[in-house]
Amino acid sequence: MLLAFQLLSGSFSNHLFTDTQRFVIASSSQFLRVAVPTPLRRVFDYLPVVGVDAPVAGTRIRVPFGRRQVIGILLGFAESSSWPEKQLKPALEYLDSEPLFSAELFQALLWASDYYQHPVGDTFATALPKLIRTGSPIEPPAKIRYRALPPEQGLASQLARAPRQLELLENLTHSGPLTMAEIREAGFDRALLKQLEDKGLTEAILADRSEEKPGPDVTVAASSVRPNAEQISALAAITHELGFQCSLLDGVTGSGKTEVYMQAIAKVLEAGKQCLLLVPEIGLTPQNLRRFEQRFNCPVVAMHSAMTDRERLLAWRAARSGWAPIVIGTRSAVFLPLANPGIIIIDEEHDASFKQQEGLRYSARDFAVKRAQLENIPVVLGSATPSFESLNNALAGKFQHLKLSQRAGPASAPKISLIDMASEPVKEGISEALSVKIDKHLQQGNQVLLFINRRGYAPVLQCNSCGWHCECRHCNASMTVHASPPSLRCHHCEARTNIPSHCPNCQSDKISTMGAGTQKLEQFLDKQYRPVPVFRIDRDSTRGREAFAQLTDKINQGEPSVLLGTQMLAKGHHFPNVTLVAILDADIGLFSPDFRGQEQMIQTIVQVAGRAGRANKMGEVVIQTRYAKHPGLNSLITQSYEQCAKSLLQERQLSHMPPFTHLCLLRIESSVAQQGVRFARQCFETAFHLQQQEQQIELIGPLPAPMERKAGRFRFQLHIKSASRPRLQRFLQALVVTIEGGRTPSQVRWSLDVDAQDLL
Ligand SMILES: [Zn+2]
Ligand SMILES: [Zn+2]
Repeated sequence: MLLAFQLLSGSFSNHLFTDTQRFVIASSSQFLRVAVPTPLRRVFDYLPVVGVDAPVAGTRIRVPFGRRQVIGILLGFAESSSWPEKQLKPALEYLDSEPLFSAELFQALLWASDYYQHPVGDTFATALPKLIRTGSPIEPPAKIRYRALPPEQGLASQLARAPRQLELLENLTHSGPLTMAEIREAGFDRALLKQLEDKGLTEAILADRSEEKPGPDVTVAASSVRPNAEQISALAAITHELGFQCSLLDGVTGSGKTEVYMQAIAKVLEAGKQCLLLVPEIGLTPQNLRRFEQRFNCPVVAMHSAMTDRERLLAWRAARSGWAPIVIGTRSAVFLPLANPGIIIIDEEHDASFKQQEGLRYSARDFAVKRAQLENIPVVLGSATPSFESLNNALAGKFQHLKLSQRAGPASAPKISLIDMASEPVKEGISEALSVKIDKHLQQGNQVLLFINRRGYAPVLQCNSCGWHCECRHCNASMTVHASPPSLRCHHCEARTNIPSHCPNCQSDKISTMGAGTQKLEQFLDKQYRPVPVFRIDRDSTRGREAFAQLTDKINQGEPSVLLGTQMLAKGHHFPNVTLVAILDADIGLFSPDFRGQEQMIQTIVQVAGRAGRANKMGEVVIQTRYAKHPGLNSLITQSYEQCAKSLLQERQLSHMPPFTHLCLLRIESSVAQQGVRFARQCFETAFHLQQQEQQIELIGPLPAPMERKAGRFRFQLHIKSASRPRLQRFLQALVVTIEGGRTPSQVRWSLDVDAQDLL
């Protein structure tokens, strides 16, 4: 096992590559080193398949594993094995004649396994679509097609009495070779084709894959927008000719970041290369794709979580073969192989959806930067509210800092004010002062956007007689009341129950809801402002692929209306008729137990505020709070995002928190509390022992997680911090080997979260 770890350490790549450009090809080497999809942190040795040419690294290989057969990835070759040769089994089959990945992407994946301390087999499995993992061919198989043969004299005239056969023959002559499926589509059947074949008028051929789909002709539509001075200098700075370079495109909302992406993409396409654009999970709307298709007049391949396995396979192939010039996808698209990589762009780079929270806990942003470095291409991180990590890298000069400080076009920045809810009459979470403003904006024929990050009808169901309130049976959290269908739901484990008619504690029927979520507010606003329509936009109202698009279409017809929604409203959508934006409850984020709470709060407020006055109408932003003197909130009114971020960064530096130190969480979960506690203590002792051998490692814990119980599991954490990345990596590696080498009780699960994004 130790040997396996040496392999995965920093010197790993030296075992595999003579240089970074080339895969090593086996010559006299005896053993195959295979990444098998298991939770075990090691590689496995196999003997080669007898009588078959040795494969190259990066290909799939079918091997026996226990009683099963599995498909692994060949990592390389070894002259010797730590296992006796007699115990090694021969591999069963080589699936590919060429590697799945470029040498650079292959190396980036090995880096990810090492950096995130994640089993190498599972790292590769995470990076591949399911159908490739289970053995589908890299290339679509060549298809049998049927073509018309030039008729010998007189034969065609025989068909005078067989008009259908003649029709099919003419069809084939005009359209070129067709597959059976296409022949059926045109209204013919196999029997008819057989008759033509028997007469020697058609023949079957195996079509070369170049005939499958012609490569697209990329033509770039000229932009109707003339870039302003800042956009021009940003574009000049993003040059794909110079190889790797990381740029932070730091542009206020409405400053035209997308136009910069588009023009940067155009340059890369003109050079015959591919573009990979990553967007947050809910940013990938059909309109967004259409926008790119129209501009570049070429197919845009999408990759996201709502696609079927088959669709993902096709997208993977289209990206890998180079057929797709533009690939747009969510987090996991960062692993797509590209035949001619030209640029990687990450839109809304601060978005939490770029960090995977289970399995391989990778950050797509960080992986993209590493990958771009290995592929030697530019990477652009764009945001109006850059993550503190990226901002700090830009301020330190590690990233190129490109600023767009002006709104593009006629729109000007909205003015922001606070409403002190402690000194105002408040009805259903809406203060009188806000209510007056809503009336005014609606009367002027404009739209109003109200933001509250709380979906459902009400956050709490309580008994007015005894004070009972409904908690989830599996989590330390209240059940949320939902109106349609009427139910109580836990937003942390998806548990559902019916709403009780009597208090389960004292049998009283005086049960009521407390607080308001989007559904309750929708009812209230509808009554208050009828006939002005109220559009609710949250995860419940936008289920289904097209629901969100239909809602935004209605909103963009421009009639006066009230938009009410959660986080979904904050993300990059354009509502030109919104002139008033109100954040109904800024206090939710103010006292978060997470050290990133304030960062996320100011990002959300700035993003939501950015929805106001985006066309040529002046906008206004209102923040409701019970803590009107809070310095963080007040600085948002008088200062820019960057100024606020800088002062919060100073606090982080003083308290030794990321990005000034590296933070890793060892998470422990157990269905039995006692076992969890005991195991967490053991892990701490192990870590404490290892800490004596490595300097600059700080340990905190074991602590109960802020949400101690979730989905029926008790949760504990150990925080591991270090200002030195190499030391931290060494320490984590030793820790993981020791924990994995010991006994883990069956009810206990543990995981390591390197660069953890949230502490909950
Ligand atoms: Zn009660
Ligand atoms: Zn729950």
